[in-house]
Amino acid sequence: MKKRILSGMRPTGKLHIGHYVGALENWVKLQEEYESYHLIADYHVLTTNLSTDEIYNNSIEMVIDWLASGLDHLKSPIFRQSQIKEHAELFLIYSMLITTARLERNPTVKEQVRDLNIENVIYGHLGYPVLQAADILLYKGEVVPVGEDQVPHVEITREIARKFNLQYGKVFPEPEPKLTIFSRLSGLDGNAKMSKSLNNTILLSDNSAEVSNKLRKAVTDPQKVRRNDPGRPDVCLVFTYHKKFNPEEINEIETGCRSGNLGCVDCKMKCSAKINSFLSPILEKRKYYENNIQEVKEILNAGEIKAKKVAKETMEEVHEAMKLG
Ligand code: SF4
Repeated sequence: MKKRILSGMRPTGKLHIGHYVGALENWVKLQEEYESYHLIADYHVLTTNLSTDEIYNNSIEMVIDWLASGLDHLKSPIFRQSQIKEHAELFLIYSMLITTARLERNPTVKEQVRDLNIENVIYGHLGYPVLQAADILLYKGEVVPVGEDQVPHVEITREIARKFNLQYGKVFPEPEPKLTIFSRLSGLDGNAKMSKSLNNTILLSDNSAEVSNKLRKAVTDPQKVRRNDPGRPDVCLVFTYHKKFNPEEINEIETGCRSGNLGCVDCKMKCSAKINSFLSPILEKRKYYENNIQEVKEILNAGEIKAKKVAKETMEEVHEAMKLG
């Protein structure tokens, strides 16, 4: 029997190529090997300032991006966290099994608060990994694909599962982190993070003109001022995009850049062409789903029915173990 995996994203807006390289590409591969559940974390996103209308619209856009990128909803249910009320109940039960001191020590939350400049930390930030534990264990996820920065969250999930099992009897597995090398794409401005809030993204929904325009403004090696100046690909953002989207020409680009035979304008045009051919099938599928929103909603409903069934079964075990029946 295939092991079960749960992966999720917060619906903060349309997805960009950084999301694809950092997560989606990996999810598409994993769905062959594991029984995968894909969660739209619309409770988790309530820690932001987004309105509930925006959250709903972003959720639909995200489903479209996921489907267009190759997630197969028949293999891997796609569902909104808020539609499965069991998440909230398990979150409440788990919040009795962990101390605030333990959560305050969580380095991931500390970093998030620092990076996002959050002034007023709400309970939702502190309890974030507890809700995440409920997300994973409600589906008895045995494996959690994570980058190194998320390992502390999986450790909290394991501790909660252990504590529950000790106190009430064995119900939950202790999930193992599956350390995944998530490649990161820097933003068009050279920032290490590609992010909508930094306005430095190429969206999965961008058309070819938008991609070319955005790339035209992308930062390059500041020392290559004139076309024939020798450049340093190792410090150039556009070169990192070539590595990902144009690996077959990478040696040629490197030599051309270093020798000064290749100018940045031409190099960027080559890069745009490659990114556009990567995005072309995604855009085509996107267009189909944009024109068939009802089908997207039905996919979501079907995923929610499947997820709900598993969640209900788990909670029946929880109620029995805790004598809450
Ligand atoms: S030629 Fe290409 S790789 Fe070299 S600095 Fe310009 S954009 Fe970057």
